[in-house]
Amino acid sequence: MILDRAIARLLPAVPRPVVRLVADRYIAGTELEDAVAVVRELNESGRLATIDVLGEEVRSADEARAFAEAYRGVLATIEREGLRSGVSVKPTALGLALGYELCRENLEAVVRDAAGRGRFVRIDMEDSSTTDDTLRLYRELRGAGLDNVGIVLQAYLRRTLDDVRALAELRPSVRLCKGIYAEPPEVALEDDADVRRSFVAALEALLDARCEVAIATHDEWLIGESLRLVAHARSPAYELQMLLGVRAQRGIELAAAGHRVRVYVPYGRRWYQYSLRRLQENPRIAGYVAADTVGRVLRLRARAR
Ligand SMILES: Cc1cc2nc3c(=O)[nH]c(=O)nc-3n(C[C@H](O)[C@H](O)[C@H](O)COP(=O)(O)OP(=O)(O)OC[C@H]3O[C@@H](n4cnc5c(N)ncnc54)[C@H](O)[C@@H]3O)c2cc1C
Repeated sequence: MILDRAIARLLPAVPRPVVRLVADRYIAGTELEDAVAVVRELNESGRLATIDVLGEEVRSADEARAFAEAYRGVLATIEREGLRSGVSVKPTALGLALGYELCRENLEAVVRDAAGRGRFVRIDMEDSSTTDDTLRLYRELRGAGLDNVGIVLQAYLRRTLDDVRALAELRPSVRLCKGIYAEPPEVALEDDADVRRSFVAALEALLDARCEVAIATHDEWLIGESLRLVAHARSPAYELQMLLGVRAQRGIELAAAGHRVRVYVPYGRRWYQYSLRRLQENPRIAGYVAADTVGRVLRLRARAR
């Protein structure tokens, strides 16, 4: 834990090329064609994808509109290339911090474009200051008759079970994850066991409400519990989701065992901010990264001998 935190704190001082090396496995590349190549490979191994255009802190309405435009480009490419993929969007990339209406307009344009192409849009969930607005965006899109859109709920938030109950009548498509952002204890559970318990409780409630669930975790215990719950649910609609570069072999095994597996594929020129934010927001990830990087260096050395 201490080492993890130290690594997380030191990251901004680490030269970009080094951060790039560490973050490389988590990101498809800087260009859309990089994401296309990764998604094609995933599809060939029986896995689906959801593409994320990297970028969260947009500074102007024009920039936010450019992101919406980039997503329309991604959707057109997905269709043209016949990829089995949807997209994941962050409200702040579409301008949420600049204004609710700006974001709503951009998001609706993306979701309508996707609907015309028979594709699905997942609205990522960011830090807790955005939760209410993000849920409102989702409700308004559903109210406008758009069904090709889903939400994310974070098991670490104390409010999540209430959100499940409040949303249940809409039978939403929900990606359930633990939650990545640094939140105060009043807002989020801190203990790992509590977060796992909350994840299981939320999943049970979602399955009971006959919602479509995307189980987004690499935690083996949770994968096992989730599959047990799914096996006992009446006509469950579910898939398993993982991040690019994390437990890929496990994803392949789960797909081979007949589960629907989707991989989150981020790409873009803003890889640095994304990588840094991720690593800093959840210091434990720094630990995984460090272990992985040391492992890779050792393997390279062994190969060189
Ligand atoms: C598809 C997908 C979409 C997501 N979308 C959101 C979102 O919209 N909002 C949000 O707040 N969070 C999101 N997350 C992140 C999520 O909240 C967690 O922070 C993240 O998945 C790590 O939690 P875990 O459940 O995998 O469990 P952990 O206990 O963190 O990890 C379990 C195991 O997985 C491996 N592992 C996990 N992460 C890494 C890593 N980076 N590198 C190497 N190994 C690793 C390790 O072996 C670890 O022991 C998403 C996650 C996924 C999989």
